[in-house]
Amino acid sequence: MNTATTTPIERNAAIPTWFGAGGTADALARPTCIDEIARLVRTHETVRILGDGANLLVDDDGIDGLVVSLENCNTIERVDETTLRIGAGVNLPKLIIETVKLGLGGLEGLGGIPATVGGAIAMNAGGAYGEIASCVHTVRVVRMDGEVHTINRDAIDFGYRRSGLRDVVIAEADLVFTQGDPAALRDRLKEVMAYKKRTQPMADNSAGCAFKNPTVNGERTSAGALIDRSGCKGLRHGSAVVSDKHANFILIDQGGKARDAIELMDIVKQRVHESHGVAIEREVVIWRRGQ
Ligand SMILES: Cc1cc2nc3c(=O)[nH]c(=O)nc-3n(C[C@H](O)[C@H](O)[C@H](O)COP(=O)(O)OP(=O)(O)OC[C@H]3O[C@@H](n4cnc5c(N)ncnc54)[C@H](O)[C@@H]3O)c2cc1C
Repeated sequence: MNTATTTPIERNAAIPTWFGAGGTADALARPTCIDEIARLVRTHETVRILGDGANLLVDDDGIDGLVVSLENCNTIERVDETTLRIGAGVNLPKLIIETVKLGLGGLEGLGGIPATVGGAIAMNAGGAYGEIASCVHTVRVVRMDGEVHTINRDAIDFGYRRSGLRDVVIAEADLVFTQGDPAALRDRLKEVMAYKKRTQPMADNSAGCAFKNPTVNGERTSAGALIDRSGCKGLRHGSAVVSDKHANFILIDQGGKARDAIELMDIVKQRVHESHGVAIEREVVIWRRGQ
C-alpha cells in the first residue's frame, strides 16, 4: 500500500448503498493506505467502515461520527503462485472474474455477491456454493487504538454470516486459492450466477437477504420460507416491500425511504414470531445517529 498522506474529510457526503436510499455522512474519508486508516481511527472517536454498501441501510437522518470508505485501498499483489494479498476495498465480483481468468479457484461460488473484500470477510459472505472464509489465510486489521495486527485464519471465529472480527478495520487479506482450469471455473461461475438471477431479485434495490437463516430445532432453516409462510410476500409499508420473488429480500422503491424498510423489517420479524414462534435476526446492518 502507499505511504501515508493526509486524507481529506468530506462533509455531508453521500453514502452509496445498494438500497439506493438513506441519509448522508456528517464526515467521510477515503484513505489510500493502512497508516492513514490507523491515523483516522486514532483521531476520531466514532468510526464506521463502509465497504460496497451491499449489506447496509443508513437511516434517512444520516450518520454522525466518521465514515471511512476503503474504496481506495484496492491493491492486489501476488504473494506466491496460489496466494494473493488483497486490499479491503477491492471489488469482490471483479476479483472473482480476475481469479477465474488466472485459473485460481476458490471464489467462484461467491458469484453474484456484491461486496468489497473487506466487507465480505467481515460478514463471511457466501451461500449455498461456499463462503469467503474458506479462502482466507491471514487478515491484516487496524484496531480502534490504531494498532495494526495480522491475524491467522485459525484465530478468526468465522461462522454463518459472521467473522467475529469486532471493533477492527479489515485493511487487507491474504487469500489462498487452488489451481484449476479457467474454463471449468468460468462454467461454475456462470452456473452460480444463473442460479442467483433465477431465484433472487438482483436488479432491485435491496441488501440481499434481510434476515439470517435461523436455527430451529438444531437445523438451519430458511428465513425466506418462514417469511413466506407468515404471509409476508408482497407486503408493503410505504416505499418498502417484501419481494414477490424471494421473501427474504426487502426492496425500496426508487426515491424511497430507509425508515420504511427499517419499519417493514420490524413488522416481518414480528409476524414470523407470531406465526412460527421463531425470532429471526437481521442480517442487514443499520446505521443510525447516536448508536
Ligand atoms: C443483490 C444482493 C445479493 C446479495 N447476496 C448475498 C449472498 O448471496 N450472500 C451473502 O453473504 N451476502 C449477500 N448480499 C449481502 C452483501 O453482498 C454481503 O453482506 C457483503 O459481504 C457486504 O459487503 P460490503 O463490502 O458491501 O459491506 P457493507 O455493506 O459496506 O458493510 C457491511 C458491514 O461490514 C462492515 N465492514 C465493511 N467493510 C469492512 C472492513 N473493511 N472492515 C471492517 N468492517 C467492515 C461495515 O461496517 C458493516 O457493518 C447480497 C446483497 C445484495 C445487494
